[in-house]
Amino acid sequence: MQKLSDRITSIRPSATLAITAKIKTLCSQGIDVIGFGAGEPDFDTPEYIKNAAISSIKNGFTKYTPASGTLELKNAICDKFKNDNGLDYTPEQVIVSCGAKHSLYNLIQVMCNPDDEVIIPIPYWVSYPDMAKLAGAKPVFIQGVEKNAFKIVPDELENAITEKTKILIINSPSNPCGTLYSKEELIEIADIACKHDIYVISDEIYEEIIYDGLQHISIAFLNSDIKERTIVVNGVSKTYSMTGWRIGYAAGDADIIKAAGKLQSQSTSNPTSISQKAALTAIQEKTNDVVKMVSEFSKRRDYIVERLNDMDNVSCQKPKGAFYVFPNISAYYGKEHDGNRISTDIDLCNFLLDTAKVGVIPGSAFGSPNHIRMSYATSMENIKEGMNRMESALNELR
Ligand SMILES: *Cc1c(COP(=O)(O)O)cnc(C)c1O
Repeated sequence: MQKLSDRITSIRPSATLAITAKIKTLCSQGIDVIGFGAGEPDFDTPEYIKNAAISSIKNGFTKYTPASGTLELKNAICDKFKNDNGLDYTPEQVIVSCGAKHSLYNLIQVMCNPDDEVIIPIPYWVSYPDMAKLAGAKPVFIQGVEKNAFKIVPDELENAITEKTKILIINSPSNPCGTLYSKEELIEIADIACKHDIYVISDEIYEEIIYDGLQHISIAFLNSDIKERTIVVNGVSKTYSMTGWRIGYAAGDADIIKAAGKLQSQSTSNPTSISQKAALTAIQEKTNDVVKMVSEFSKRRDYIVERLNDMDNVSCQKPKGAFYVFPNISAYYGKEHDGNRISTDIDLCNFLLDTAKVGVIPGSAFGSPNHIRMSYATSMENIKEGMNRMESALNELR
């Protein structure tokens, strides 16, 4: 008898979590590895947020809450959407989940029938295709144009749409390449989505981590037609360095949100009560922690992009948001080191880990095998040392 379901066998484990774990294992063995794998800010959760969680424990706020989150947190999220994004939602249109990843998973589960198609731009965040597959849906990919900061262009989107298309996933600013769509570009995408009657899931988890004074705009903000067919996903993980607390949320069509709540009520139940209190404080109290973090990220970004572009055979677009760079390293394919041939991004990642003790993530995890992803959510000191090591290792390839 077959032990596992076809459903689970069809998906891959999260590649980024896997390599991050490998780097951590090497570090715990005392090996001096410089890790560029981190998918989370290297800053501590701000003190006032921790204190909110501690008070919630002391005050006995430690029991079940409604499965889709507390009303007070949903109200605060509505205020946040109104103030930051110009979006009006009622609490019935909001769900709080165990991380934005959980919101995304539940949305795709409740929206897709088998064989529905989910359009995913490449490079993509690792989990989107597998989430679609777990819902029985089919991921359909559109190649972002590297010269165009990896953005998708309207013609390609039109070509990818069929009568089975259900959802387009947009992630701006994006993981892994920091792509930020402008208002004009979003208008073009929104017009196509409305014309073909498809839904948009807009993953806005990096909305606050943007550089050069640029502005994030939610596609849902453009007009009421696109707002009705967009579900906006966000969370506290990246903005407030709260990855371990597991609070994310989504807002949109009340029926879809209600269905996601039903799924949550039959699976995870509520996100942790204590974390909900902490997230409430994070969202309600504006401090300058985020600004400080973004300004530090900005310096690191400038440095790492310059160092990478100074290396032979490496080219790197300057990201507009998030905390990753996505250099093209494919010019090294076919080169050798000690008789070992580098043929793929995975070979190059292993070479960098073994030879330079530098941990990076293969671009194929994001659908883009000519690249590697490097997170600059690590100290400037580490970045400098890592760049030195990487440069000398790459120079050994012939
Ligand atoms: C980190 C990340 C998420 C998920 O964050 P949670 O910790 O689950 O809230 C979702 N989308 C993208 C693109 C991410 O990088």
